Amino acid sequence: MFESLQDRLGSILNGLTGRGSLSDADVAAALREVRRALLEADVSLEVVRSFTDRVREKAVGAEIVKSIKPGQMVVKIVHDELVATLGSDQVAIDLNAPAPVTVMMVGLQGSGKTTTSAKIAKRMTERQKKRVLMASLDTRRPAAQEQLRILGEQTKVATLPIIAGQGPVEIAARAAQAAKLGGYDVLILDTAGRTHIDEPLMAEMAEIKAATRPHEILLVADSLTGQDAVNLARSFDERVGITGIVLTRVDGDGRGGAALSMRAVTGKPIKLLGTGEKMDALEDFHPSRIADRILG
Ligand code: GDP
Repeated sequence: MFESLQDRLGSILNGLTGRGSLSDADVAAALREVRRALLEADVSLEVVRSFTDRVREKAVGAEIVKSIKPGQMVVKIVHDELVATLGSDQVAIDLNAPAPVTVMMVGLQGSGKTTTSAKIAKRMTERQKKRVLMASLDTRRPAAQEQLRILGEQTKVATLPIIAGQGPVEIAARAAQAAKLGGYDVLILDTAGRTHIDEPLMAEMAEIKAATRPHEILLVADSLTGQDAVNLARSFDERVGITGIVLTRVDGDGRGGAALSMRAVTGKPIKLLGTGEKMDALEDFHPSRIADRILG
């Protein structure tokens, strides 16, 4: 992830670091390059604009500190603004609510919802010693419920028994009841997706939300879709309301534009990254570590 940005920003800023003095023209030229590099990484235009504006403002207004060379100062300003754009602090899934805490997974078909549900369940079971129940509410894709059951078996996480013929809201209510009676700490609801956003999908999500009152609603979005992923997050947030984002397929994303735009555009934190098909391929999203990685 971010390979292309790393190359570009790294070399732009490397050209500055060693310099004892920088003119306004030097800073302006570097910022033009930074702007171009971000746009090429598919970062959204509004985010690029405010990012470069803030860096320019700080670079111009920065007091000259004797111990730091001006070039290094610009690099630090870019770093700090990257962290701010990415969301400053790491935000974990919040389980601070009466059990069973319901986590609803939403997103388009093929974005990685089912895989991510199982990854999250496995991690909560192993690292946080939580008792987790998973349920698939996807009655549209014939094999979806079975897919989650198999992943549950693989990861040793309980799944709600499948009853043919039930609709999503009915299954959700049954899952909530089973989680409560079974003494589970967490209930993960894997919802159905569509190939694109449409009103029936949004209406279904809103209905499930009303029936289960989830504590977390996580949008699962494919980072390879770049700007589309950002627009998707905005739409889901406006219509259903989300509490966080999981970006998947970052293992195949050399640009990272979605990651850089998500927080600034939606105001919602990226909580986790999907980094592969395996059940352990899930990482926390740490803004400062990511900024370090981008700057190489
Ligand atoms: P859903 O339709 O949203 O439930 O998507 P699935 O969970 O079925 O995932 C679709 C495909 O994407 C599967 O082949 C997954 O193995 C794959 N996948 C999911 N997350 C990741 C990821 O982070 N990286 C990679 N490389 N593949 C992923």
